[in-house]
Amino acid sequence: MPIARQWLLNGHPRDRTIADDDFRLVETEVSGPGEGQVLLATRWLGFDPAQKGWMENIADYVAPLAIGDVMRGSAVSEVSESRHPGFKVGDLVVGQTGWSEWSLSDGTGIERIESALPATAMLSILGTTGMTAWCGLFKRCMPIPGDTVLVSGAAGATGSIVGQLARIAGCRVVGIAGGEEKCRWLVDEGGFDAAIDYRTGDLEAQLATHLPGGAEVVYDNVGGRILNAMLGHIATGARVVICGGISRNETGGLPEGPKNYFNLVFRRASMTGFIVLDWAAEFPAIRARLERLVLDGRLTFREDVQHGFENAPSTLKRLFSGQNRGKQLLHL
Ligand code: NAP
Repeated sequence: MPIARQWLLNGHPRDRTIADDDFRLVETEVSGPGEGQVLLATRWLGFDPAQKGWMENIADYVAPLAIGDVMRGSAVSEVSESRHPGFKVGDLVVGQTGWSEWSLSDGTGIERIESALPATAMLSILGTTGMTAWCGLFKRCMPIPGDTVLVSGAAGATGSIVGQLARIAGCRVVGIAGGEEKCRWLVDEGGFDAAIDYRTGDLEAQLATHLPGGAEVVYDNVGGRILNAMLGHIATGARVVICGGISRNETGGLPEGPKNYFNLVFRRASMTGFIVLDWAAEFPAIRARLERLVLDGRLTFREDVQHGFENAPSTLKRLFSGQNRGKQLLHL
């Protein structure tokens, strides 16, 4: 019977950033699989900004996380023992098995990985990240060729895919990201038409330069002052989609409303939010299309790999300081 190290939730980081003692490392004996179960050895963890919201219990679209629960998170795992007819030893699976080195599953919520791409793609381009980019863009923003699409958090896992998909759809794409290296990557590798570094220079002036006619589509991952600035540069009939608001991590609570919201009236624009899980039934079809685009060399994605299970909390924190380059992963 394996001994699993597990990270448990030890604090709700409400109205503040994540602290080291919000997690507690324990060792637990995991029994062999019972009839109908598999024993899973975790190989990779995937990290999402939403995990902070889950720790806070700020949203009702997922079950609450209580102090003492294994930290919720997605993982790629290998079937180590199987007493389940649908899985055999050596199969790689993806699911929300949490921050645990070993776990037991009856098959609910795990999926066998059958992809031409490396297994980690199921945590990034073929996982929730790719689904979020696709659904937010095509189901909410409805881009048409010739539109200018403005993306915040553009060099991140989601934003970088949004921009590339918009380019493939025939749009002109402008990204906002932190730092010269990320901006260079967006233009040189991601095919963005322009990138704005919000950390240096005048954000307003850069938006005015790159969006002379305004943006028909705004895909926002950041919120706060960046959303406000983007709302000042929308075209008539613009579609603004709120995917996330990672900048709220700076203040902790939910973000203030943007001062520029009244521009939605002047520009006859709409602003909507979404939760990607609402399109779960369509994920297999969307995944097949994303995989094809990658295999055809039309879509690229970055994965940022850290190492060591003990580093799970510090790896999560990388998202909030902009350290990650693409999808944040941890290899066990
Ligand atoms: P990510 O963009 O790869 O990583 C986070 C990035 O956010 C950082 O690298 C950093 O990039 C930027 N950032 C962090 N703090 C910031 C701040 N204060 N101001 C401006 N930028 C900041 O993460 P992801 O997994 O792709 O997630 C992107 C967004 O999608 C998140 O808001 C997430 O909650 C949202 N999401 C929504 C759904 C949904 O269903 N609605 C589903 C999944 C994800 P810079 O260096 O450029 O600042």
